[in-house]
Amino acid sequence: MTVTARDKGLVACRECARVWPVGHAQCGVCGNALRSRDTQSLQKVWAWWIAGIIAYIPANLYPMLTTRTLFHTSEDTIIAGALDLAAHGSFGIAAIILIASVVIPLGKFFAIAYLALAVRQGARWPPGRQYVLYEVVEYIGRWSMIDVFVVAILCSLVQLNVAASITPGIAALTFALSVIFTMLSAQSLDPRLIWDRIETQDTKDPA
Ligand SMILES: [Zn+2]
Repeated sequence: MTVTARDKGLVACRECARVWPVGHAQCGVCGNALRSRDTQSLQKVWAWWIAGIIAYIPANLYPMLTTRTLFHTSEDTIIAGALDLAAHGSFGIAAIILIASVVIPLGKFFAIAYLALAVRQGARWPPGRQYVLYEVVEYIGRWSMIDVFVVAILCSLVQLNVAASITPGIAALTFALSVIFTMLSAQSLDPRLIWDRIETQDTKDPA
């Protein structure tokens, strides 16, 4: 039998983790507003999630970099750029680009959607494992901007290539927006909602 803070008439501050009796409007330690559950959590999660997906599409369709040399202009999307690097033998950098700009963002979209659906409808994963997934998504959030560094690396690589001018394309902006929206989506998820499924989970699946 799992007991949540709410069952005990308690609410924890999400900023400093101090626990207060339900009914306190503000944390006495840090002044953060206290709410037992963020009732609009899922709406915010989906709103930012959709915004993140919308920004992610042009990030892959439009050029990340526009390179102009004396003789020609080339515009590379993220994936085309990575394949190009791989073709020139830079497998390591190509792999970093593909992981940072395709594997991680798509993984985050799936993970957040899974958690949001699990909170509403329940899921096969036990809440403990869902919470681990939530922690992973939150942890990855701060590393997602690695792609911005990748663009910087790309820039310097192209610069060595006697390029006349390099400009970041539309994709650089929309990719950054997509990362920010996805982080906001993950942060909007109230992880305490995960534990609220426990009782139904316990009765449904007595393992
Ligand atoms: Zn506090």
